[in-house]
Amino acid sequence: MHQECASSFSEHTLRCRAICKAARHLVAITGAGLSVASGLPTVEAQWSGRPLRELFRAGDAQRHVTEFQTLYRKLMTAWQSVQPSIGHMILAERGARIITQNIDGLHQRAGSREVIELHGSLMRLRCRSCKTVTTAGGREGQSAQCRACGGQVWPDVVMEGEAVRSLSLAINWIATADALLVVGTSLEMDPVNRFPLMALRADIPVIVVNEDAEFRLGEYIGVRGNECDV
Ligand SMILES: [Zn+2]
Repeated sequence: MHQECASSFSEHTLRCRAICKAARHLVAITGAGLSVASGLPTVEAQWSGRPLRELFRAGDAQRHVTEFQTLYRKLMTAWQSVQPSIGHMILAERGARIITQNIDGLHQRAGSREVIELHGSLMRLRCRSCKTVTTAGGREGQSAQCRACGGQVWPDVVMEGEAVRSLSLAINWIATADALLVVGTSLEMDPVNRFPLMALRADIPVIVVNEDAEFRLGEYIGVRGNECDV
């Protein structure tokens, strides 16, 4: 063990580092807290004079299709201009499997290859008629109609009240994990709030990283050139 590192970390930190280092299959459940560090708002924030949450209510969106499509395009444009945070980068570099509640695509942009987006992605569009999925260009003038069939294209996100995506795969990843990190989420939403208990019942260690998430991730996982052996 590197003496300098050992003396500057608490016992808890050293234990978390050891768990993260030993894990062959590290899984991270992530939420808005991680993307706040990139400058993105939470759903409680206002966007163009509305609570952001309203943009993801299917009923509201259907009643104001043109207005909402304009808002979505503005949102995509704004969100595509932010960069992954250090936390995203650390998880990507570590090769952790990611189960995220975020819809911003920042894990993939940071380099994570295995990402489950439980709530879909604002960076893709889906035709409501033929279900064709395309990459969102984010341009405000981008057509709101499907090129294939002329149907309405909509962000490929899970609207409030709809079922999350890839739930069985997420459960499989947790069941086969050696350690589970919970990063930037208070786990208020179902079914994510059940994941840590599933892990604990299977004797899989769960490490919660909410306060100072980027700093803690740096301590537990380390970043290139700053690793300590524990
Ligand atoms: Zn279509």
